[in-house]
Amino acid sequence: MDSIEYTEDYLQRYWSIFNTKYFNNILHKVKIQWSGRMKNWGLTFCEYSYKTRNIITTRIVLNRKAIRTFKRFRMVLVHEMVHQWVYQTFKIKDIDNVIHSRN
Ligand SMILES: [Zn+2]
Repeated sequence: MDSIEYTEDYLQRYWSIFNTKYFNNILHKVKIQWSGRMKNWGLTFCEYSYKTRNIITTRIVLNRKAIRTFKRFRMVLVHEMVHQWVYQTFKIKDIDNVIHSRN
């Protein structure tokens, strides 16, 4: 639990654990990736679906260069999952992602 694995399996595993622990398993499965080319700690991407008239979370991306401890990893992933929860629950896009920075 202490050392982070920079694999998609690891991300998916902890996403599931946190989904159970903090979100009562209500979040829909989503693709999660590591990236070494971003400024933010993490980002949650979404799209508007004209068909269902919903906001759909398409992808969560975490910064593998900036996230070096499990504590930070958990903080950032849970934060991104809150965005996912907002999109899924309220079907609105918050603007928070646009202004997020590493500071
Ligand atoms: Zn955010």
